[in-house]
Amino acid sequence: MAKGRVTFDYELCKGCNLCVEFCPVKILELDKTQTNKKGYNIVNVIDPDKCIGCAFCAMMCPDSVITVERLK
Ligand code: SF4
Ligand code: SF4
Repeated sequence: MAKGRVTFDYELCKGCNLCVEFCPVKILELDKTQTNKKGYNIVNVIDPDKCIGCAFCAMMCPDSVITVERLK
């Protein structure tokens, strides 16, 4: 199985939750306890080792917050 690593440019996030909904392995979640400077909730990667690098999250994000690296 491919592996990936996701990073977020948190200050651009608007907390819309689309990336969370479309991640096929369900490793993203909206962090209700943290906001960026604009006041939007940011996204946590709850189990980074399970990322398969599919980039669905980055494709769905309307604000280009997410960068996906394929590790192999
Ligand atoms: S690259 Fe795919 S598996 Fe990894 S966080 Fe994004 S949607 Fe989930
Ligand atoms: S899709 Fe983009 S803007 Fe929406 S919660 Fe995810 S990272 Fe933030």
